[in-house]
Amino acid sequence: MTDPVRLAARTRALRSELSDFEPDPERAEWMALELRGVLSEHAHRYYVLDDPILADAEYDELIGALRQIEDRYPHLRTVDSPTLRVGGKPLPGFEKVAHPEPLLSLANAFDEEGLRAWYARCLRGLGLDEAAPVALVCELKIDGLAVALTYRDGMLVRAATRGDGSVGEDITANVRTIRSVPLRIPAAGPEPAVPGSVEVRGEVYLPLEAFAALNDRLAEAGEKTYANPRNAAAGGLRQLDSRITAQRPLRFFAYSLGPVDGPRPGSQSAALRWLREVGIPVNPKATRVEDIEEAVAFCRHWTGDRDSLDYEIDGVVVKVDDLGQQARLGAVSNAPRWAVAFKFPAREATTRLLDILVNVGRTGVIKPEAVLEPVGIGGVTVSQATLHNEDYIASRDIRIGDTVVVKRAGDVIPQVVQPVPAARTGEERRWIMPRECPACGHPLERLEGEADWYCVAADCPAQFIRLVEHFTSRGAMDIEGFGSKLAVQLAEEGLVQSLVDLFRLDTKRLESLEGFAGKKARNLVAAAEAARHRTLGRLILGLGIRHVGKTIAEILARRYASIDAVAAANEEDLASIEGIGPVIARSVVDWFAIGDNRSLVEGLRSVGVNLHRLPEEEPPAETGGLAGQTFVVTGTLEGISRKDAEDRIKRAGGKVAGSVSGRTDYVVVGESPGSKADRAQELGIPILDQEAFLALVPEA
Ligand code: NAD
Repeated sequence: MTDPVRLAARTRALRSELSDFEPDPERAEWMALELRGVLSEHAHRYYVLDDPILADAEYDELIGALRQIEDRYPHLRTVDSPTLRVGGKPLPGFEKVAHPEPLLSLANAFDEEGLRAWYARCLRGLGLDEAAPVALVCELKIDGLAVALTYRDGMLVRAATRGDGSVGEDITANVRTIRSVPLRIPAAGPEPAVPGSVEVRGEVYLPLEAFAALNDRLAEAGEKTYANPRNAAAGGLRQLDSRITAQRPLRFFAYSLGPVDGPRPGSQSAALRWLREVGIPVNPKATRVEDIEEAVAFCRHWTGDRDSLDYEIDGVVVKVDDLGQQARLGAVSNAPRWAVAFKFPAREATTRLLDILVNVGRTGVIKPEAVLEPVGIGGVTVSQATLHNEDYIASRDIRIGDTVVVKRAGDVIPQVVQPVPAARTGEERRWIMPRECPACGHPLERLEGEADWYCVAADCPAQFIRLVEHFTSRGAMDIEGFGSKLAVQLAEEGLVQSLVDLFRLDTKRLESLEGFAGKKARNLVAAAEAARHRTLGRLILGLGIRHVGKTIAEILARRYASIDAVAAANEEDLASIEGIGPVIARSVVDWFAIGDNRSLVEGLRSVGVNLHRLPEEEPPAETGGLAGQTFVVTGTLEGISRKDAEDRIKRAGGKVAGSVSGRTDYVVVGESPGSKADRAQELGIPILDQEAFLALVPEA
């Protein structure tokens, strides 16, 4: 094994070489050799040591490149090529287990086109024409570790890892500590009957919450954290001491049957049913579909919805359902032809951490931000990522110059997950949190019990820019056309030095500025004019009082008739309002206690900004028929949108909740209701149809 620093450097060089690689036969031979060498080492780190230094998508990219070369120049394919192999050699220390039938890997499809191409190959392989539907089973691809469980006369007698596909490690003692793996089947009662010997294959995984808790614990203890739940699960399972395994709340989902001594179900869907019946956990999302279009829809759905699960999935496995058809399709050297793994777009990459800068937020919070060597993640180039706070950096020992794992998930800001210490060269530097505000030089403060540092200077220019952005944002005063660039420009020109100045903008003066040609100046002044009449709730939100978000601002506006009434409230009054705790109450009182803030309110008054509650914010009349009652609305109501229905309930004094619970008083059910209606029935909660609902809230 090369040392990881050299491996990381060699891999980087290879990847940049590949970016414009046009193989002639000689260069192809060299490249294939180089790729094989590098890939074998990464595979060893991943499969055997559970300690990869490369993101999965980056590994897949290299494998893809090797496969392309081998397809073009088949004589370059060697028997030991990583494109033909499964997993890695078993770890010494474990008993070895020879699998009676090999545990294979899966072919990949990286997009819908690849998935359709796989299906077309299946049809051809089965001698069917293009229009023939072949039933498939779609299963979530759980990102864990493959294991094979052998039950003899219903008792769990052996559990083995996949290893290199032919020989795995005996991890029986460790698997016995996983509570979701039944030690005997059928788990309840004598039915259904179980064959004399059956091998159950599936994935051991670590739920996301347990993964985060484990990494926090390891970081606190100064130990190495895991790059992802898969490595944490593998590391937990492949412990020589099963007491350590037992401390990790590992779980198991079965996904197929290996050799069976006796009759076996005739399809994948029947096999999953049988597994469930005997009490072995099967992922509940597995679905039989009738053709490829439905499979594509399943993959599309889960590409967008993967974050709703409490475990990591890295794709969808699509399998031909019928066992006879599976047998006819057979397998290539390391994967069956009748299944394919549809891989989701990448969310992680490794790159260099070039520097750490700090940003000043609206409330003065100081946030460390990573400056990264730009890296593509799932089609987007990422060059900045959050590092959360000082403790996060220290506990994970993230250093400037480190190779780091960066994750970009959903709409969340990209974040640095952890460093790759194995790739350190010794030139990395520890980072120290600055003690002064980078924008105004004021000493920073860290409040007790908080992880963040703050700049508490009232006149900090960076905070002011953030405040202008926040005040003008869509959720607050909604001044269209404002963004951070404009805020900086107007502040630098001296045109906006206080929020009050936003309402004093003058078309002529704006027109003289760079970039203000055409209607832009007039539009901006008109947008500010319109914002004078926003609700009290929006104004309170816009002021940027610490801990006062949209909901709290709305609660305050419902309770107090004007900003003056809010300013006059004491802590006790505020804390007595439902939804407002002592921390928020204190924060509101503190804000109004500052002279500059009171002057700001006066300034806003002087330029005609509305400081009073508007009719639509009026609290429901005491007699509001629905006071104290909680409603859930589900399904489509005719001629009235969900939002209007909910507004009506609120105006009549009722509350609206998102899910049905014991505290729900009524569930309003429209056309095609979801599971909420079933839940209401289960809990015996009164259900209102559209007619009954409109009778209750008759207003137009
Ligand atoms: P794979 O993990 O992509 O697919 C096969 C595996 O999927 C099976 O063995 C099984 O464990 C699992 N699986 C989950 N749900 C399943 C289901 N419902 N039905 C069937 N199987 C299911 O293939 P692989 O050969 O084990 O490994 C390739 C993966 O490992 C790639 O994602 C690759 O990026 C990664 N890898 C990464 C590195 C690295 O350095 N980062 C190195 C080697 C491999």
